[in-house]
Amino acid sequence: MSELSFNPFAMAQAQLDKTAAWLGLDSTSRELLRWPMKEVQVLIPLHRDNGKIQIFRGFRVVHNIARGPAKGGIRFHPLQTIDTIRALAMWMSWKCALLDIPLGGSSGGIACDPHTLSLREQELLCRGWVRHLAPELGPHVDVPAPDVMTTPQHMLWMLDEYETMRSMSLPGFITGKPVGMGGSLGRLEATGFGLVFALREAMRELGLPPDQAVASVQGFGNVAQHAVRLFEQIGGKVTCVSSWNQKDQTAYAYKKESGIDSLALSGITDRYGGIDKDQAQKMGYEVIPGDAWLAQDVDILIPAALENQITAENAPRVSPRVKIIAEGANGPTSPEADRLLTEQGVFIIPDILANAGGVACSYYEQVQSNMNYYWEKDEVLGKLDVKITSSFLSVREFSAKKKISMRDGAFALAVTRVAQACQDRGWL
Ligand code: NAD
Repeated sequence: MSELSFNPFAMAQAQLDKTAAWLGLDSTSRELLRWPMKEVQVLIPLHRDNGKIQIFRGFRVVHNIARGPAKGGIRFHPLQTIDTIRALAMWMSWKCALLDIPLGGSSGGIACDPHTLSLREQELLCRGWVRHLAPELGPHVDVPAPDVMTTPQHMLWMLDEYETMRSMSLPGFITGKPVGMGGSLGRLEATGFGLVFALREAMRELGLPPDQAVASVQGFGNVAQHAVRLFEQIGGKVTCVSSWNQKDQTAYAYKKESGIDSLALSGITDRYGGIDKDQAQKMGYEVIPGDAWLAQDVDILIPAALENQITAENAPRVSPRVKIIAEGANGPTSPEADRLLTEQGVFIIPDILANAGGVACSYYEQVQSNMNYYWEKDEVLGKLDVKITSSFLSVREFSAKKKISMRDGAFALAVTRVAQACQDRGWL
């Protein structure tokens, strides 16, 4: 499937259909779960620095709120479509249910490229998004969080706009805020660290000691940088990372057989996860094509950039040495590639488990903000470890008992919980 024809929502619906068939879910439940319960699109006029006015499209989609108020990211991306947002909202419902967090699933964003906007313009867009969508949002309604190309600063501008509109302090309106401004310690690290907590359990299961494990990573943004850092701390080695190069409008992979130095590499990376190619070369990295991250001779692959990166076309390039794929991104593996790699014996930690540390910690931040009482970092990360590890073990036990893959097991557990909540409320 080409990148242009890829539709993440069709993929998310196909995953649900497969799970519903396996569970024997009735047709009304399927119909309710196949679509978002609410979708809002808004047009946001922006007064550009050059004096012109440009219209941007904003989105908020709520997939399901049977288990609690909606929770979901805000993505800034030029190729944003309603279908990407629908898929992310649906995956968020499954993630919260899988981790047994009392929240529903939503997602949103703005079709824009922050690289091409000044900070003033970004601030106006954030404030515009909140003004247009405020009736749909709120600490007990739908709580946004960062996703691709959105940062704690964006979250703070959005909070400020919402609090100004409501004339009160409402830090539980949004998560991923800067620490000291209502943010939770550990939130920045949470998704990457959560991924490594799950990866650690998978390595234990497969008998792969961390100090003998070598990984290759796609992306070097929030998720990837923290995942790589913790993976290095537990003894692992990363030999290749890739990132998008805004100037050249292509991705490059940066390779060092002796192992990358994640801290030094973070020092030459912009706020959107773009590594400075010239500086990397000076630091002794071999610069190779962006898609080469996938074909490295490693034990572990960590896709942590965007959807649909491992496909039926490129899956045969995955080295036979690869034992584990830990999905940091949402929907990085197409269903066909998933089938091929699973048949090959690769242990795939599915996105709704591997990257769920982000929403777990967002939930902890929401709780802290609503109480206005903040926890120590160790407490936050300790709770996160327990949550991810116990969820991993539940999925592992269920999948082994039913003789299905980790992905199928995770989806079965999550969809059952959401369907049950809909029934318990009397919706079905
Ligand atoms: P980010 O914007 O911080 O980083 C994205 C990274 O991907 C950047 O390094 C960028 O250069 C790279 N990239 C983009 N296109 C690429 C390409 N074609 N090849 C190689 N690299 C490319 O985003 P993030 O927050 O780290 O999110 C990454 C993924 O993780 C997304 O799928 C997101 O939905 C998912 N996720 C994020 C969180 C979170 O808490 N941030 C939580 C759960 C899931």
